[in-house]
Amino acid sequence: MITQTEINDILNDKSPESVEALANAARQMTEQYFGRTISLYAPLYLSNYCSSQCTYCGFTSHNRINRIKLTSDQMHKEMSYIANTGIENILLLTGESPQSTPLSYLKEAVTIAKQYFPSISLEIYPMETEEYKELYFAGVDGVTIYQETYDKTRYKEVHIAGKKSDYDYRLSTPQRIAEAGIRHISLGILLGLSDVAYDLCALYSHLKKMENTFPGVEYSLSYPRLRKIKGQDFAICDIDDITFIKIICLTRTLFPRVGINLSTRENPLLRDHAISLGITKMSAGSTTCVGGYNLPISAAQDPQFDVEDTRSVREVVNMLKSKNYDPVLTDWRRIENQIS
Ligand code: SF4
Repeated sequence: MITQTEINDILNDKSPESVEALANAARQMTEQYFGRTISLYAPLYLSNYCSSQCTYCGFTSHNRINRIKLTSDQMHKEMSYIANTGIENILLLTGESPQSTPLSYLKEAVTIAKQYFPSISLEIYPMETEEYKELYFAGVDGVTIYQETYDKTRYKEVHIAGKKSDYDYRLSTPQRIAEAGIRHISLGILLGLSDVAYDLCALYSHLKKMENTFPGVEYSLSYPRLRKIKGQDFAICDIDDITFIKIICLTRTLFPRVGINLSTRENPLLRDHAISLGITKMSAGSTTCVGGYNLPISAAQDPQFDVEDTRSVREVVNMLKSKNYDPVLTDWRRIENQIS
């Protein structure tokens, strides 16, 4: 396995020759294992209630923002709007508040989502295996859980209170998700929160361990970059565009088959450039407000982060086609077991 020092050396070498060599290797491997395809998905924020305190997030419990959670009627409106754009792969998100968005609420959301989307993923608070099993039987096929940083000291500094401050419980969450039978798990780190080489090295070994223990699960990785909130900067290091691209390329060369996701946090120019270098899945036409697609409530609240790529699904599809890529709206369909 690659060491922290080796990762550091690769990321710090900004010579055009080394960047080009890494990019070429990543481009070749991506085409070999994934062809010229990019899956598209849309995030849907169900709720911004949160009982944890993370210094870098606008939803943190002590922030005085309008707290909203969608009713079932509002879920139908938002989901039907998203489905009409052509998206078939939905990511349902909440803040981390089991009180406001309990398992029963999430199961209801998944049951509604099944009417509109063949593939349903969740980005919610960490749960027990039995709870994940209930979500699996309700129709969930993917769960996203980011460790944010693997540096325990830094983790404690930025996750001040609430369930998310429990480092070890979060670290063991992917295992509980896999034990529940969920087929797709997405891991990630928040770039800028801590030393990037340390975090990448730890993420890679976490992924390796998961692949060895649960080889039947599909894995993907995400690298959201830490953004300022209302002018306040929480990053301890700046991840510039070249470093960001190198992280994607390095990941592809080390893990040829792993999925790599890219959100609309990144600007259109960078997103368009990154697709040939390892990205396999992108969000499109996104909003990060609760009810932000089609409900009048969206104006009265802060988004979790600002969207940099504001293009519609249609515009992203057209961009992919113009680059000779196939936009994949769904590559997974759950067949219900008819045997009683
Ligand atoms: S990062 Fe998640 S847990 Fe932390 S404050 Fe934001 S929504 Fe809550």
